[in-house]
Amino acid sequence: MFTCTTNSPEETAHLAELVGQKIREGTVLCLEGDLGAGKTLFVQSLAHTLGVEGEVTSPTFNLMNVYEGICPIYHFDLYRLETEEELEDIGFYEYTEDPEGIVVIEWSDKFPQCMPEERVVVRIEKSDDGDGRHITFASVGERYQEFKRGLGSLVSLSH
Ligand code: ADP
Ligand code: MG
Repeated sequence: MFTCTTNSPEETAHLAELVGQKIREGTVLCLEGDLGAGKTLFVQSLAHTLGVEGEVTSPTFNLMNVYEGICPIYHFDLYRLETEEELEDIGFYEYTEDPEGIVVIEWSDKFPQCMPEERVVVRIEKSDDGDGRHITFASVGERYQEFKRGLGSLVSLSH
C-alpha cells in the first residue's frame, strides 16, 4: 500500500495518467471516497490516457458506461444502487469475473462483499486544506501486487 498527496485536480489527473501507463487489460480498479473526492476526475484522465476520445462522465443513473480506448473500459458508479441484487440485474459479475478490458468501479465500498477477490483499490480522501487529496493505492489478492509495486516506483520517480 502506498499513499500520495495531490494539491490540485491537475495533479490527480497526472497520477491517473501514470496509472493508465501501467494498467493492463483484465484489471479491476475500485475507487473509494466521498462525493466530490475526485473519483470521476480520476477515471476521466485514466480513460483519456487509454485512448478514449469522447466524453467520460459518471454513470450515476445508467450505472455503467462503456468506452472504447485501446481496450474496452467499463465504468461503473454504484452510488444509486440500493441492493446487492441489483448488481446481478445489471450483469455486474459478467464484467468483473475474469474481466476483458478494464473495469473501474466508483463507490465500490458500498458493496465490498460483491467486489472480485482480486482488485486494485484507490481511495481518495480530502485533506484539511481545500484542494488537497490523499490517494492510497492498495491491491487485494496476489494478482495485482506487481502492478502496484511498479506503479509505486513510477509515482515516486515522478514526484
Ligand atoms: P467524485 O466522482 O469523487 O464524486 P468528481 O471527480 O466528480 O468527484 O469531482 C471532484 C471535484 O473536486 C472536481 O470538481 C475537482 O475539480 C475538484 N478537486 C479539487 N481538488 C482536487 C484534487 N486534488 N484532486 C481531484 N479533484 C479535485
Ligand atoms: Mg463520481
